[in-house]
Amino acid sequence: MTSIGVFALQGDVREHVQALNRLGVDAFGVRRPEELERCDGFILPGGESTTMYKLARTFDLLEPLRKRVHEGMPTFGTCAGMIMLADRIRDGIDGQETVGGLDITVRRNAFGRQVDSFETDLDYAGLDDGVHAVFIRAPWVEEIGEGVEVLARVRGGDADGRIVAVRQGPLMATSFHPEVGDDDRVHGLFVDLVKQSQD
Ligand code: GLN
Repeated sequence: MTSIGVFALQGDVREHVQALNRLGVDAFGVRRPEELERCDGFILPGGESTTMYKLARTFDLLEPLRKRVHEGMPTFGTCAGMIMLADRIRDGIDGQETVGGLDITVRRNAFGRQVDSFETDLDYAGLDDGVHAVFIRAPWVEEIGEGVEVLARVRGGDADGRIVAVRQGPLMATSFHPEVGDDDRVHGLFVDLVKQSQD
């Protein structure tokens, strides 16, 4: 059975575990480095990236996570988790660190104060009807490296064309929260990536 861990020191852990369970995956919260060993894949959830990296450091999870991601463990970052997976951050706090691995530059809280939380429909590569996406003080992707595929962009409004979902090999990230609501198809795409890596 496929086992996927969810970073559980901070963030919306339970919703991810439930989505993965609905997809028939063994899913569990990860708080300690040893728990990483049984992960075939990993999710960095939404929450607050500035708190996440500090807790990851305090609980000795940051280096082990960097190592596993570097070795190719399929990992999915959502919102704050996208920031945690990014190689470069804009508008981070002083000294803010990430797990890294994804060759992107993200801007924190990019959508601004007026519209920092909103919902919209997106076209999404690999999903026929697109997705209804919920954004909460979300980052967007400002730059991508060569190996990074864009999966979704905002349509219309001030943020028209901004990149909000990407993939690079076994790494995937969305600015929005696919764990909110009952559409599990984005998680399904990630589970497919994890299963491919097990073949
Ligand atoms: N603004 C948060 C951060 O910088 C992300 C918000 C979220 O994950 N919903 O970490």
